[in-house]
Amino acid sequence: MIPPSLHCELVTLFPEFFVSFVATSLLGKAVDAGTVRFDFTNPRDFSTSKHRTVDDTPYGGGPGMVLQAPPVVAAVEHAVAERGPAHRILLSPQGQVFDQRMAESLATKRRLLFVCGRYEGVDERVPELCADQVVSIGDFVLSGGELAAAVIIEAVSRLVPGVLGSQASVEDESHAVGRLEYPQYTRPPEFRGHTVPEILTSGDHAKIAAWRRKQSFLRTAARRPDLLVSHPPTAEEKRWASALAAQSTNSANSGD
Ligand code: SAH
Repeated sequence: MIPPSLHCELVTLFPEFFVSFVATSLLGKAVDAGTVRFDFTNPRDFSTSKHRTVDDTPYGGGPGMVLQAPPVVAAVEHAVAERGPAHRILLSPQGQVFDQRMAESLATKRRLLFVCGRYEGVDERVPELCADQVVSIGDFVLSGGELAAAVIIEAVSRLVPGVLGSQASVEDESHAVGRLEYPQYTRPPEFRGHTVPEILTSGDHAKIAAWRRKQSFLRTAARRPDLLVSHPPTAEEKRWASALAAQSTNSANSGD
């Protein structure tokens, strides 16, 4: 049997959360084809208490409950012992913020293990003992790590060859090279008075490619100027920027 291109291990109290996620769309197809594989380990199965509890009140007091280290660490160790080593990620709003660069780097690893927290978070001994990386999906707080793991898996799986289908569409996409993607259109050519830019129906592939590069740059400059700092404009883009600046000076001078 050929090993999967991406093997995701989820350590979660709520494996049912992932049922539709792993069965839907391109990811579902990849799972059926065996290019992506999922395995689930529930810390509750490793609880040593009579009622299978996995949380307790925080030392030092304070609100809420904390996910205990022993069942979580045991679940991680079980997954590794059963199916081999993996890059272990703890989901936490305190982690390194996930982005497309991190997705690219994770896509090169064959086995990813995600530890999904719940309640007020996990006991600090979990990251100390069994996480290679602590990752956040943004500066906000969710109720659990499941959604965050799903976000990361979806972004990473698109970058694994053979999962998405077309590698070319990945290369053009927003954030691949510090630019937002150009605007896209499909049939009909006119909708409620809004028409498709003529160039896209011209059949002139070189001109279309140049138009798209320009739109991609202008859109990035307008919506995400921060990306132009981390990914400075090319010579071609600088020309478009100067033309734009000249245009706005002209219109300001003409009193428009
Ligand atoms: N009390 C914690 C938050 C706990 S939220 C704190 O203030 O830092 C409960 C769980 O949801 C976390 O353990 C984590 O696994 C997950 N989670 C919440 N927000 C997240 C985010 N932005 N990124 C990744 N995981 C998150």
